[in-house]
Amino acid sequence: MSTPALMPVYPRCGVRPVRGEGVYLYGEDGAQYLDFAAGIAVNALGHGHPALVKAIAEQAATLMHVSNLYGSPQGEHLAQRIVESSFADTVFFTNSGTEAVECAIKTARRYHFVTGNPQRTTLITFNNAFHGRTMGAISATNQPKMRDGFEPLLPGFAYAPFNDLEAALALIDDTTAGFMVETIQGEGGVSAATPEFLQGLRKACDEHGLLLVLDEVQCGYGRTGKMWAYEHYGITPDILSSAKGIGGGFPLGACLATEEAAKGMVFGTHGSTYGGNPLAMAAGEAILDVMLEPGFLEHVTAMGERLRTSVEQMIPNHDQIFEGVRGKGLMFGIKLKDSAVARDFVAHLRDHHGLLTVAAGENVVRVLPPLVIEEAHIAEFVQKLSDGARAYTAMAVAA
Ligand SMILES: *Cc1c(COP(=O)(O)O)cnc(C)c1O
Repeated sequence: MSTPALMPVYPRCGVRPVRGEGVYLYGEDGAQYLDFAAGIAVNALGHGHPALVKAIAEQAATLMHVSNLYGSPQGEHLAQRIVESSFADTVFFTNSGTEAVECAIKTARRYHFVTGNPQRTTLITFNNAFHGRTMGAISATNQPKMRDGFEPLLPGFAYAPFNDLEAALALIDDTTAGFMVETIQGEGGVSAATPEFLQGLRKACDEHGLLLVLDEVQCGYGRTGKMWAYEHYGITPDILSSAKGIGGGFPLGACLATEEAAKGMVFGTHGSTYGGNPLAMAAGEAILDVMLEPGFLEHVTAMGERLRTSVEQMIPNHDQIFEGVRGKGLMFGIKLKDSAVARDFVAHLRDHHGLLTVAAGENVVRVLPPLVIEEAHIAEFVQKLSDGARAYTAMAVAA
């Protein structure tokens, strides 16, 4: 047998973490890494946060799992708090982001089904989108690398260029159910929707009776310094998918919806064996407790600004490799010049400078630290980034 026991769908790197502490990860060999990837925007409170650890341990000892056939005081409580902190009236809990997206797609289709427009099944989605890996989610992006060989895909998607309002509006016809879009594209390259674009989609939805579905799996839940990224835009969606930071490392996702948009999601239409089980709810409560503490989101904003100015200041010293910065709050991206390849530079930082970041589309290095970082971590990051840029450039010149 030459196939590894662990299905080889990831090109895994040599870092093999076995322990985490705050903003640091430790490898099998004892090496220390400054973790500015945070499990791809998941470990919002860093590693081993005492409140999260305690909540999970205590709940595991009390009650880990029961079926959704039974009443859920735990689920009702967290759902109520999320409703109070968002546009939504109702929440369905999932175990991942892609399941939250799946629930969002189903909710949108079902809305039109029960409101007399069963022909409205198509969601307009956007180039470079990433919505996850289920059949529904890969059908909602037009990136070949995720779709090739998995056909036939789910019908009912049309694709427009991101941030091109006119192109999106031109796709509307009588089969359109709505739009599904990342408020800030993550995998696609940390590209924020423009206000005109998002506000224009909202307006079109209101005019045509369509639904606005926001995928905030990566950009939501405190990451940008607001609880939800849509708060930067003065609009609200009808449906929203959340995950990643919402569980801080515990597998948890959620599909949020207004009462109107969730009209079709009645008894028997959807479900999940694990979704929203007591253990997941305990993790979710612990994360939300910390995020809603006065000053938490302000801290994210302040650290985001600090990170941005620090990196901007060093760009002139390394302008052979860095082109500019993008993103909001601690959803941050550094665009590289064509002379460098983001994936290679990320590997260089990781292997030679003990710094973890993530490559994204459009030749961008994604910087997604835990939301609890302090100024000292940013200073350490900038030092490593600067050392890395100097060494990487020297190597490129030598090669
Ligand atoms: C990560 C991500 C997903 C998929 O989440 P999983 O938990 O991996 O299923 C969906 N949408 C966006 C925007 C993401 O960043």
